[in-house]
Amino acid sequence: MTLAIVTGASRGIGRAIACALARRGVDLILVGRPSAELSKLQADLAGTVRVCVETCDLAAASSVAASGARLANEHAPDVLINNAGVVERAAIEDTTAEAWDRQLAVNLRAPFQLTRALLPGMRRRRQGRIINVGSISSTVGSPRAAAYAASKWGLVGFTKSLAQELSDSGVSTLVVLPGSVDTEMLAGSGFAPRMTAEDVASTIVFHALDAPAAHNGAVIEMFGT
Ligand code: NAP
Repeated sequence: MTLAIVTGASRGIGRAIACALARRGVDLILVGRPSAELSKLQADLAGTVRVCVETCDLAAASSVAASGARLANEHAPDVLINNAGVVERAAIEDTTAEAWDRQLAVNLRAPFQLTRALLPGMRRRRQGRIINVGSISSTVGSPRAAAYAASKWGLVGFTKSLAQELSDSGVSTLVVLPGSVDTEMLAGSGFAPRMTAEDVASTIVFHALDAPAAHNGAVIEMFGT
């Protein structure tokens, strides 16, 4: 059985990814903060595939380290999808150092920590896909979202460096950069939705399960329709 670890599945793109993977028969570990939405998703999918929840606050380095260690001890995932993200919209003059750190923590440090924890197992099995969810706003910039855009640009540099380290390992990585997706995160941004969460999910599932590993290092930009 194929096993995927997905962060941020309580709603939006992460939920669509989890549902699309379940439809393909992939067992799931959903990493996130406890919520009614996450529990309901687990219950809804449980009839189809095996679904576990790993409780984790991705903003807290200690929580991610503990979850990473637990996951690495107990599971050998085929796929890791670092999807969870957070944006706190404010002009640069109004962005506090704490808000900057929170966004960098969830969007960039947590993917690094989970990757570092799970990579040894993937390398041992000489198989695995690590898919990071970035954002078009990192390449074009985004007013009132400098910390967010910077964190997502960091994720591109992280993914490309990881891709080079993974050369000939059997494990591959890439980053998907969606434009405006119709989810809660987009509300209040001033941008109109240009794609659905399912559009992004099907792109990610294709790269997780079907695409050649030769896509290692790809930056997949999705501008929408
Ligand atoms: P969303 O609907 O706001 O969902 C965000 C997910 O991240 C939720 O499941 C949330 O869980 C989780 N999360 C946030 N902070 C967390 C924390 N500290 N610990 C654990 N989980 C946390 O956003 P979305 O639109 O689906 O975004 C998914 C990914 O796509 C993000 O990386 C986002 O940056 C990226 N993206 C989105 C868009 C867009 O237009 N929507 C565009 C480009 C890229 P909780 O239930 O615990 O809050």
